[in-house]
Amino acid sequence: MNTVYPTPCVPSPQRWTSRLAVVTLHSFSGDTLRLYYEPQPTAPARTDGLDIAPLFEVLPGLRRHRCDNGQHRSFFDEARHTETAHLFEHVLIELLAASGQPRSQIQGATNLDEAPRRYRVKVSGWESVAQAEDCIEKALHLLESREL
Ligand SMILES: [Zn+2]
Repeated sequence: MNTVYPTPCVPSPQRWTSRLAVVTLHSFSGDTLRLYYEPQPTAPARTDGLDIAPLFEVLPGLRRHRCDNGQHRSFFDEARHTETAHLFEHVLIELLAASGQPRSQIQGATNLDEAPRRYRVKVSGWESVAQAEDCIEKALHLLESREL
């Protein structure tokens, strides 16, 4: 006997909410994670004026990051004047590297979405969606505990 569902069974999207942002999983395919990062209305969308130094003390590997900013600025300088979504991307990358993934296999990008105050964040180099979900949670906690 066939079981008939009254409505199509659609899994609810994976979502994390912190004081700073709402992060929604868009997709995970191959080794690539795609998500949306939306700063909370009460949280800044940019890092200008925020003290990011404590974050770099907790994750010193961030100093090794390089960004294609066209001006040969260090990532520390870049991180002081960028979108919080972009900083979140780099924290994710650093947590992934800290879990043992070779840095050469990790790539990321952050772009403004069509929706206002919504960013598309893409990070490649994951071994599993569970690993990615774990790092998303850790990254949000880290940023929140550093008041970013
Ligand atoms: Zn970057």
